[in-house]
Amino acid sequence: MKRTLHALGMACALAAAAPAMAFENNTCYNQPVRWSNSGQTFKASTVSFPTGYWRDTLERSRIFFNANPSQAYFSLVSDAGSVGLDNGENEVWGSVDNSVLQGAPALTYWWSTCYSLFGLVTNHLDETDIIFDYRAPWQWTGDEVKSSLIYYTGSLRQMQTTGLHEFGHAFGLMHENDEYNIMGADFTHMHANSSTARGYLGEDASDGLAYIYGPWGANYQELSVSHWKYAYASGQYSWHRRVQAYNATTGVELPTTTVNGEPGYRVSKGQKVRVEFTYENSGESTQSPNVAWYVSSNDWITTADRRLSTSSLTLARDNVYTIKRTVTIPKNLTSGTNYWLGTIINYDNALSDSDSSNNATYVPIRVN
Ligand SMILES: [Zn+2]
Repeated sequence: MKRTLHALGMACALAAAAPAMAFENNTCYNQPVRWSNSGQTFKASTVSFPTGYWRDTLERSRIFFNANPSQAYFSLVSDAGSVGLDNGENEVWGSVDNSVLQGAPALTYWWSTCYSLFGLVTNHLDETDIIFDYRAPWQWTGDEVKSSLIYYTGSLRQMQTTGLHEFGHAFGLMHENDEYNIMGADFTHMHANSSTARGYLGEDASDGLAYIYGPWGANYQELSVSHWKYAYASGQYSWHRRVQAYNATTGVELPTTTVNGEPGYRVSKGQKVRVEFTYENSGESTQSPNVAWYVSSNDWITTADRRLSTSSLTLARDNVYTIKRTVTIPKNLTSGTNYWLGTIINYDNALSDSDSSNNATYVPIRVN
C-alpha cells in the first residue's frame, strides 16, 4: 500500500519542485527521494541487449554515469529471464508496447516508499525500470560517430546519451528546464571534437547527484567544454542550441553559413569576433583551469592548432558557464576557406581531470 508508482517519459507531465537549484529532485517530507544504498544493480534483458553492440552501448551509459562526483553508481548484469514492471528488480529492456512506452522514446518507472509515523520518516526507492522504444521511427545508434547523429548530419539518436538521462531518473533526478543539462533534451547535450560526438552527464546532473547522495570523497575532478548551450524551456525540458559567435563591436550575431553540414559563421580577416562556448566543472571541487582559444584548418581542435588567446576561468560545480571571448581572426587565413574556431579547457594539463577527451570543441567559420 505504501509503494507508489511514478513514470517519467517524454510525454509525461508533472509538477516541478521549487527551482531553488537548477537540478530537480523528488522529495518525501522535505528529504530527497533516494536509494538507501547508493550502489545499485541493474539487470539488462539479454533479448533487448544481447552481448555485443547493444549491450556495449548500455555499458557506455554505465561508464558515463558512474563518472560522477557523488556516491551514486550502479553495476550492470545480464538478465536472461523475464523482465517486467513491479517485480522487485531494477531492469532495462526494449519494448514495442505503447501502453508501457506511453509515447516516449524511453522512460523510467519507479516505485518508492514514503511515509511518516510518529514523526519518523521512511523514505526510499524500491525499484526502477528503464524501457527504450524499439519501434520505428525512433532509430537508435550506439555509435559515437558525429555524422550518424541527429542534430549533426545524421538521423540517429545516441542510446548512451538517452541512457544517461534515464539512469538519472532512476537515481532520483527529475526533468529540468532552466539550464543546459542532460535531464532536459539529452540528444543535444553532447561533447564533439573531430568526427566524434557523445553524450555526457554534465555539471547539473552531477551537482544533483552530489546533493542527493553526498560527495564521493575520492577527489574526483572533471572539466569539459561543449558547443551546445541552453536555449529555452520546453515544458519540463531544457531545450538546447549551438553556441553562437558575434561581431565584437556591435554585439550582433555574425552572418550564418553552413560548413560541412554544421552551423557556422562568416567572418572577415582581421575582424574581432566574440565566440562562446559552454564550460563545465562536473567534479568535486571548484577549479580555476587555464583555457585557450584557437583557429584550426579542420574540426579537430588540439594544442597544435594556432593559439589566439588564453585566460583563466573559475568554475564551481553549481553552474553551467556559457562564456563569450573576443578573438581576432588572423589576417593571413585564406579567403573563401572553412576554418574552425576552437577552445581547450585545461590546455596546459595543470589540473587533475578525470576525462581529458572532452576538453576541446569548435565553432565552424568561413573566411570572406
Ligand atoms: Zn525523462
